[in-house]
Amino acid sequence: LAEPVGLVPTMGALHAGHLALVRAACERCKSVVVSIFVNPLQFGPQEDFARYPRRLAHDRELLSSAGVSAIFAPSVEEMYAQPPLVTVDPGSIGEHLEGERRPGHFRGVATVVLKLLELVRPQYAFFGQKDAQQLAVVQRMVSDLNCDTEIVSCPTVREPDGLALSSRNAYLSADERRAAPRLFQTLRAVAERLSAGRTDVPALLAELTPELSPLRPDYLAVVRPEEFLPLAAAPPGATLLAVGAAFAGKTRLIDNIAVKTP
Ligand code: AMP
Repeated sequence: LAEPVGLVPTMGALHAGHLALVRAACERCKSVVVSIFVNPLQFGPQEDFARYPRRLAHDRELLSSAGVSAIFAPSVEEMYAQPPLVTVDPGSIGEHLEGERRPGHFRGVATVVLKLLELVRPQYAFFGQKDAQQLAVVQRMVSDLNCDTEIVSCPTVREPDGLALSSRNAYLSADERRAAPRLFQTLRAVAERLSAGRTDVPALLAELTPELSPLRPDYLAVVRPEEFLPLAAAPPGATLLAVGAAFAGKTRLIDNIAVKTP
């Protein structure tokens, strides 16, 4: 493959968010590899690994005109010839929020991303800001473990009503789909208050949590993007992330918005 090589890691069921990563990769790289792998190591025992959407033929079709050099779609047996004993511990950055609700999730993510970086040896790898904690874990892993790949982050692609595109949106009923943009709307309200000078994060979040209704709140938090520790007070002159997760029926939605404090 002609260098620089760009890798776009995905779990398939591709949508316009994935395609934006592919476009960014094509702009920067001579060769682009898209990996499609539903990684069992990052799913908890009660999670949706078995029913996660798999659409390889459809994904190939979508990518056929995207300028991609190769699709890497290994089987579970190819990626994990034996159950791995040695895995990547993401440390404190993976402990809270998503990491707390999904024990072992970021260990699974970091491990599969490191394996993909070793297999493809890309100069660049492209990740979406939609999964902000994942992005933070991967950036920190590459830095701490001296991976020879530059991580490029790409903005979240949204539906016209604000809902972040996600392969899991396919699970939503019509009613759930109508309610789903509430997460983005609530995070936007959090971000607006912070940029207007509110600093008392717990009180602010308590005030705005009811706006998620009819979604069922999982968490709202404000973090520094490189730490992912929930803040009790918003520091001045900082770039922060308002992050959240909420349930539409059984489907768990996550989203985040960046905000600068005055
Ligand atoms: P997934 O297939 O869900 O594991 O996602 C693969 C990559 O696409 C990850 O880097 C995600 O952050 C990114 N991604 C997923 N949804 C979006 C979106 N709506 N906008 C931008 N990137 C996204």
